[in-house]
Order: sequence, then structure tokens, then C-alpha cells
Amino acid sequence: MTEEKKYLFGPVPSRRLGLSLGVDIVPFKTCTLDCIYCQIGKTSEKTIERKDYVVVEAVLEELKDRLAQGLTADFITISGSGEPTLNSQLGQIIDGIKKITDIPVAVLTNGTLLTDKSVRADCAKADVVVPSLDAGDQQTFQKINRPHRDISIEKLVDGLCAFRDEFSGQIWLEVFLVEGINTDANQIAKIKTIIERISPDKVHLNTAVRPTAEKDVKRLDAEKLQAVAVQLGQRCEVVADFALLYDGKHIEGGAKDVLSMLKRRPCSLNDISSGLGIRRDVALKYVTYFQQQGVVDTVERDGTTFFKAD
Ligand code: SF4
Repeated sequence: MTEEKKYLFGPVPSRRLGLSLGVDIVPFKTCTLDCIYCQIGKTSEKTIERKDYVVVEAVLEELKDRLAQGLTADFITISGSGEPTLNSQLGQIIDGIKKITDIPVAVLTNGTLLTDKSVRADCAKADVVVPSLDAGDQQTFQKINRPHRDISIEKLVDGLCAFRDEFSGQIWLEVFLVEGINTDANQIAKIKTIIERISPDKVHLNTAVRPTAEKDVKRLDAEKLQAVAVQLGQRCEVVADFALLYDGKHIEGGAKDVLSMLKRRPCSLNDISSGLGIRRDVALKYVTYFQQQGVVDTVERDGTTFFKAD
């Protein structure tokens, strides 16, 4: 069988998951929501129907090949071009990954299908589940997440609570804040009450530091975001990477060294880190910034990701 589709992407640097190898198991852009801040683009297929979207063996073969080439990652992350729980083979895929490697598995999900027992059972096979909660009431949910007509905030929260009861792994809840939409004191208080009901292990605050589906989406500045983090309590931390907003003039000298190194030859993160004597997470930050700026690209060689600049 000729298998043209590539299901894996990266590894890409991720603030929360370290070096994260993505597995994309739904077609672009299939989702239960159409969030105004979506960084992938507008939802073209808004659905709640789970389907077999991939050939499971092909996904696992691709992973086996990459691992045999020496690929390493901190997490294998099921995410990609839409809502991954829409893929009814999710559980099979995680089972298959677990048979091949010890690398922990994360699922990034908007959480809207967790009312479905089989979706909860599939997600429970992962080590970490990263669901979303961006609203404290139905009106705000409609505004920011633009859900499929059969989804309500109430159902979303019920699903998240049921999952918490059943899942002993880590739940890192992401709250994405858009200035003027879900940021007033009343909304934050409602979100806080819901978070207390769900009881996630961590709460991650994010905002629009990358291009979004709708142009008028406003990010919260770092200070305000930090203030909300304090309000939401101890388990809450800011994960929005404001480093992505630096303009070239203000980026530190170390970043310039990274760029000139990548102009000379493609380098892996380890090459950058040992070559310049900087920490790997710092190298990741710089490389991510330059990728966002479109000046650095990746190439795969023998299972290792190399970064290069023209
Ligand atoms: S849930 Fe995720 S993929 Fe779906 S529209 Fe929202 S941000 Fe985009």
C-alpha cells in the first residue's frame, strides 16, 4: 500500500510538554468548536460525530520508523488539525503507541466530547490530558468557542467532572483569555468556580500570542494575565509565550548567536545548546521565536530534527 499521508509532525518545542512529537489524527479542520482564537484556522467541518479517520497501522508504522531512526521526544502528543477525540480510533492508537514506546502520551482536547463514556475511556489511556475551558457561562461560551449546536457549557463541564472522577493521570486545564470577551471579574469568578468543581492538576493560562482565526482577537498583556493567574489560585500558571512577541531589535544577544549559527549549518537543539553553552529550554525559546517569524525551518535527518535559517 502506498501511504502518502504523514501523521507525525515535529518534534516541536512546547512550553508545557518540552519536545513534543505531534500525531495528527483528524482531517483539517474538523472540530466540535470554531474558536475565535484558533491558531489553525476556521473550522470547515463542525461536527460531533466520531469517525475512523486514519489507518491505525499506518500511524503506528510511521512512529516505529521514526523511533528506529533514533527519534527522541519528551511527549507524544495527540493533537493536530482539529479535535482529536472526533477520531473513534483514539483508544486503539494510544494502545498501539504504548506497545511501541515508553514516551508518555498527551492528548490535547477541547473536552466537549467527554460526556461520551467511550471518549473518556479513550482519553484515560493517556498519561496527560490537556482540555480547555474558556468560559464561565453559555453566552461567553458561544462568543469565544462558537460550539456545534448540540454542545453546551453545562455538558462540557459535566464531561470534564466525570472524566476527573475516572482518570488517575494528570489533567492540565487550559484557559485561553481574550481581552474583552472572557476577562471581566464576573467571568473570571465563574471560571474559577467551575475549575474548583473540575479539580484539575494544573491550570494553564494562555492568550493570543500567535495569529488567530479572527483578526480582532485581543491578547491580554503579561501583567493582567499574571493577575488572573493569582486570582485563579495556586495550581494556575501562565503558559502564553510572550517571547514570541519580541521584535528582532529587542531579542537578546544569545538569540542572534543562535540565528547566525543556523545560517551557517542546520543544527539540532543539542548542537545549539552545546555549541553556544546555553540551556536547551533557552535554545528552544529562541528557535520557536524564529520559527514564528518564518526565518527558521526544520529538516528531519535520521530521526533528528534540525533547524536551519536561510
Ligand atoms: S477547539 Fe482547538 S482546534 Fe477546535 S476551533 Fe478551538 S482552538 Fe481550534
